[in-house]
Formats: sequence, C-alpha cells, structure tokens
Amino acid sequence: MYRVLVTDDVDQEGVALLTAEPMLTVDELPTLPREQLLERIGDYDAIVGRSATRISAELLEAGSRLKVVGRAGVGIDNIALDVATRRGVAVINAPAGNTVAVAELFFGAVIGLLRQIPRAADVMAQGRWDRHTFLGRELKGKTLGIVGLGRIGSEVALRAHAFGMTVVAYDPYIADERFTALRVRRMATLDALLAETNILTLHVPLTDETHGMIGKRELGRLPSRSVVVNMARGGIIDESALHAALEDEQLRGAVLDVFAAEPLAPDHPLRRVPNMLLTPHLGANTVEAQRNVSRDVCLAVRDALLRKDLSRSINVTGGAGDWEGLHAAMTLARRAAAVARAVLADQGMRAVRHLALRVHPELEHGSGPLLAAAATGLLEGVVEDDRLNLINARAIAEARGIELSVSATTDVESTRAVEVAIAGGMQQLAVAGVAPEGGTPRLTRIGSFHVDVNPRHTLLILTNHDVPGVIGRVGTVLGDHGVNIAEYHQARLAQGGDALAAISVDGTVRDETRRALLEVPDVLTASVVHFRDD
Ligand code: NAD
Repeated sequence: MYRVLVTDDVDQEGVALLTAEPMLTVDELPTLPREQLLERIGDYDAIVGRSATRISAELLEAGSRLKVVGRAGVGIDNIALDVATRRGVAVINAPAGNTVAVAELFFGAVIGLLRQIPRAADVMAQGRWDRHTFLGRELKGKTLGIVGLGRIGSEVALRAHAFGMTVVAYDPYIADERFTALRVRRMATLDALLAETNILTLHVPLTDETHGMIGKRELGRLPSRSVVVNMARGGIIDESALHAALEDEQLRGAVLDVFAAEPLAPDHPLRRVPNMLLTPHLGANTVEAQRNVSRDVCLAVRDALLRKDLSRSINVTGGAGDWEGLHAAMTLARRAAAVARAVLADQGMRAVRHLALRVHPELEHGSGPLLAAAATGLLEGVVEDDRLNLINARAIAEARGIELSVSATTDVESTRAVEVAIAGGMQQLAVAGVAPEGGTPRLTRIGSFHVDVNPRHTLLILTNHDVPGVIGRVGTVLGDHGVNIAEYHQARLAQGGDALAAISVDGTVRDETRRALLEVPDVLTASVVHFRDD
C-alpha cells in the first residue's frame, strides 16, 4: 500500500485515476504552509502538486518514504532536482499537456496587440464609440520567426500557416526533416532569423544558453516596427532592453506572459508601456490543459509506484520512452549482476571494482537504463535497500569507486542478449542471458557454464565435481528443508570435471540450508540469490 499526497488543487480527473487504485491511499489537501508540510511529508510515498508547493531540499530530506514527486505542469524550478536525484526520488512532470494552450494564447495575444483589442474593449466599457484610434495590422503576409521548434514552437508554426504567414525558425537541436515536415524555413543562426522576422516568438527552455538570448543587440537586428513575444520563460529576454526598444518605438509592440521575477512588481515600468500586452503567466491556464497535465502526471506517478515504471521520470538516466521494450532486458541485467556478485562473494571476492555490461547493438539505445538496472542488481543487499533504485544506483556505485561501462557487440548470442561481467582483484565473472521483448528473461551462461534457467524468486548456484549421485543428494537436502525446486539445470565443461547447477526454487533459502548443501559430498560452493525485485 502506498500513500500519495495530492495538493495545490490538481485537477480532479487525474486525482480520480489515483483514488481508483486499491493499492493507493490518496489524501487531497490544500496547499500547506511549509512547516505543516514538513511535519506530514514523512507519511507519504509520493506527492503530486503544482507550482505552489516548493519541493525543497529540506522537504525531500524529511520525506523519508518519498519515492516520487509529480509536478502537474512543465516547470520544475520549484523542485530541488539534484537532491531528489541523490535521494533516489523520481521527479515526474507533464511537459506536453499544455502545448496547445500556449499556442492558442500566442495567436490570441498577438492579434489582441495588433488589433488593440484590450484598449478598444476598455473604451467601450467607458461608454465611448471610437473607430479611428484602433487601426490594426494583419498577420497575413508577415514573417513569423520562431526560436525553439519544439512542442509549442511546432504548434505555433502549424497554426501560423493557416493565417497565411511565412514561417522561419532557429533551433540548432532539431533535425532538417522536422523543419520540412512543418513547412518551416530553417535559419542557420539567430542573427539570420532576426534579420527577416516581423513577429519574433520564443519557445525555448531557460538554460545557460538561452538566458538573456534576446538583448539590446538582438532587438536592434529586427526590422523596424517588429513585434516580440515571450511566452516561454522569464529571463530569456532582457526586460530593460525591451522596455527601451518599445519606448523608442523601434518595436511596434510586445507580448509578455512570463517575467524575470514573478509575480511582476505592481510598479514595474513594463506595466506602463502602451504598446505592450502583458498576461500573468497564463500560457497553460485552460481547463483542458489543467486536465491534460493532471491526467498525465497522475498516470505517470501511479505507474512509477505500482509498476516501477520510471520511464516518465526526468531525473532517471537514459532515454525516456525507450523503457517500454526494455523491461525484460532490465530485469535480466539486474538479476545477472546479482548472480555474478553472489557467486564471486562466495568465492571470497566482495570488493567489486568494475561492472561491464555488454549488449547487442539492438539494445544499445537502452544502455543508460540497462546499466542502471545492472548497478542496482550489484548493490542490492549491499547498500541500504530502501534508498537504492534505478535513479541513483549508478551514482551510488560510482561513489563507491566501482567503474561502470557499457558496450555494444554482435559477439553475443542473440539480438536480445545481455551480459554482465563484474570484477575485483584477480577475479572476474560474467553472467549472460537473453531477454525476449515482452517475454521472460533466461540466464544462458554463468562463467563458462551454459545454463538455461529463469532467474525468478530465488536462484541457487552450486559448483560440484561431476560425479554420479550429486543431483539426487542435493534434491534430497532441499526437500528435507522444505524447499521446492522449480527448475534444475546442470552444466559441465567436460565429463568428470567441474559442474555447475543453476537451481530455481520457490520461496527463500535459509543459511542453514546453504550450509547443509555444502556438507553434501562433492559440492564445492553454494550461492543463494534472492531477487529483490521479484
Ligand atoms: P520543448 O522542449 O518541446 O522545445 C524547446 C525547443 O527549444 C527544443 O526544440 C530545443 O531544441 C530548442 N532549444 C533549446 N535551446 C535552444 C537554443 N539555444 N536555441 C534555439 N533553440 C533551442 O519545450 P516546449 O514544451 O515547446 O516549451 C517551450 C517553452 O515554453 C519552455 O520554456 C516552457 O517552459 C515554456 N512554457 C511556458 C508556458 C506558459 O505558461 N507560458 C507553458 C508551457 C511551457
């Protein structure tokens, strides 16, 4: 049973998806003052909120059970992401649900500015009738310059065509094909885009590269009487340079929905510029967008808690979206690492220095999540389990001085093959298997021994002299200790040499049973692996 705290008036449609789950207990609370939230957070496995609740380092430290933070929206400026990652807390946001809301506001606001709709409406409200002051401009035939052709930039481009605009964009991180598909002319540099743009709109994230991206110099490169729009993030445009360009009438006007400091100060000079249309960060403020982001984030939080699916987490290593086809391979990588570690530990090698993962090139796209899964298998039972997960396993392993590596090779037995080799001192052991997509993983090799066993519940790995009668005696010991055998796979390199048995059993195997197995004549080693993720 997991407890989820939902706060900040997250839309009900998403909350209902959580409350419908029998394994989740959901408490819906209004935005809590910091002290109260700190007091209560320790009871919860997940918190879902909007921007009003700050997920500070202090809160994350106090949330000893916390596994998931869900943000019903895009911005994660209110979340201490580094601390969440270090503590193995998955952070999930909803980046896509409000795309259309922002794109529609763009056209509403730009047309509002060009036709002076807010001022005309004011005049009507004052009881006047003035048709001469409000001579507007059209979008048709103008060049729209989009900086950032991502989700929102693309939706804006699609709609701009319907208005008969020419669309150019600058986004160095997007492939040519996307520009072609959107019928947008690619501009090689920001300067080239500015030189041709009548209406400039920004749809980039706020990063070191985009902070202050549009300043005095860039505004000066726009054709005279252009319009500038920022609905992305405050700080991308230099507000004082914009203010000056508007005062000088170098620009026709500007639309801002976001500001360097929010809320915008009541006496901020931007509020007094006449050819300016300001909105209080309303981009995502539609019923539909709130519903979409609430549904998106609640589904992702549910899947993270109940299905251990972290594919939507923004602080997980590896490509999100790739996880779908990787589940079996990740289970295999994790369990192969656990087997390798247990066997080496029983041979006296506990201080692992290297973990090398080898996969077929067809699985290479999942290198990040697969390595995280292998690191988890290596560390579970070694470090404190409750904080170890796919998010922090690599960081914890590396902090412990374990070198992690991953390589792709066709020198493995199938396109779905995964091999985990761990080493320390002079010893090394590689454990390999095959993970059919959507199927059950099987271990196919432990060291030099070929096996074929499903690594489930508990796996016993015995080495013994290849002499008659061992299998029967091992079976008797296990039976006497109440251990039920699911699969028994015996492998040997040469007749009469050493042999290895991989025995999949139900339930747990106590240490007493392991010791009894070691008493069996000709049994050399006995390792027990309880798969913790089963
Ligand atoms: P996105 O990640 O889909 O797209 C961003 C695009 O910017 C990407 O294609 C990326 O390649 C491009 N980019 C990054 N750095 C760049 C650079 N230096 N130069 C040119 N292009 C660059 O994001 P999105 O969902 O389209 O959101 C865009 C912006 O809108 C974000 O800042 C987001 O926070 C903001 N937003 C605002 C509101 C609002 O309420 N006003 C609502 C939602 C999103």
